[in-house]
Amino acid sequence: MTSKILVLKGDGIGPEIVNEALKVLGSVKDKFALDIEWQEALIGGSAYDALGTPLPGETMELAQAADAILLGAVGGPKWSGVDGSLRPEKGLLGLRSELDLFANFRPAILYPQLAQASSLKPELVSNLDILIVRELTGGIYFGQPRGIRTLDSGEREGFNTYVYSESEISRIAHIAFQAAQKRNKRLCSVDKANVLEVTVLWREVVSEIAKQYPDVELSHMYVDNAAMQLVRAPKQFDVLLTGNMFGDILSDVAAMLTGSIGMLPSASLNSENRGMYEPIHGTAPDIAGQGIANPLATILSVAMMFRYTFARPEVAEAIEQAVQKVLNEGLRTADIATASDTRVSTTEMGDAVVAALA
Ligand code: NAD
Repeated sequence: MTSKILVLKGDGIGPEIVNEALKVLGSVKDKFALDIEWQEALIGGSAYDALGTPLPGETMELAQAADAILLGAVGGPKWSGVDGSLRPEKGLLGLRSELDLFANFRPAILYPQLAQASSLKPELVSNLDILIVRELTGGIYFGQPRGIRTLDSGEREGFNTYVYSESEISRIAHIAFQAAQKRNKRLCSVDKANVLEVTVLWREVVSEIAKQYPDVELSHMYVDNAAMQLVRAPKQFDVLLTGNMFGDILSDVAAMLTGSIGMLPSASLNSENRGMYEPIHGTAPDIAGQGIANPLATILSVAMMFRYTFARPEVAEAIEQAVQKVLNEGLRTADIATASDTRVSTTEMGDAVVAALA
């Protein structure tokens, strides 16, 4: 049966980088005779401008029918005055929760060719390869009740609820253990069990599930220590398992270790491995429309799509090797270029990856 991909270019640099990823998708479709097709729809600010909502019904229907979604990014200063419920980010959050995309995979890989782009010394980060598995549809970002209320005293109070059920912890833990089994078999679960009861339960459930994965070495670490260890000795980690908020923060730290936010892909999966694939960066309004954005994170997101949703690791590897090849050839977009490098545009980088695939 033909596999369906929904393409959501989004805002800012979104259309520029997704266009390059589509060239790569077209190229692997031919090369591997893949039975795939794709269709575009609106999301985020561009959907709001056209239809008055960041997540139009048609987009939601197509997303529900798709096997995988390729997303650019959403948001930007243009929509900062829009009512909170109609902000571009709401489109993305709505999609993640409607499709139950609870498992977020964020690899942080340092390409040896880009070692000088890291903020850490090369010896600390050379060959860095960490996978952060983040719970994406629960925790404090979604817990109820939440809001800002006025107390009897007249003072205002903001409040959120940090809550995880056993089943929410268990399903993300299984995903993380299975990911660790396919890598170096080490899993570090991040919590704040010295202060937060939610994460006391988190630690208990993860430890219980570990018995089903005797080949994986499990450790636990408080989130403050994990943040410190990530910048002190990041290579000690293989797979990190985190809740929603801790993962949000730690994965940005891990991203920075690799030098460029323009290089890192991500996947968000549901329990059937259907998923949304997107670069970890945002819409980069400061460079949008200039043709200089790095499309590699989005191209590598296509590789993740073939690895996780379509179970075609050889297609994923071909794309990843093509990216390695263009980096070896010295091609650099502005964000990863040093003074001596030749800088290429967004489209030149996409074309080079397509050429390397051929
Ligand atoms: P950002 O990731 O868009 O940009 C941060 C910096 O990195 C900027 O200097 C930008 O130019 C640079 N950068 C990002 N991607 C790049 C690329 N591919 N190539 C070269 N340089 C790149 O983060 P921000 O500035 O905090 O956010 C801008 C907008 O994006 C905001 O509206 C934010 O809400 C939104 N955002 C969306 C997503 C998403 O859709 N998943 C994620 C993060 C931020």
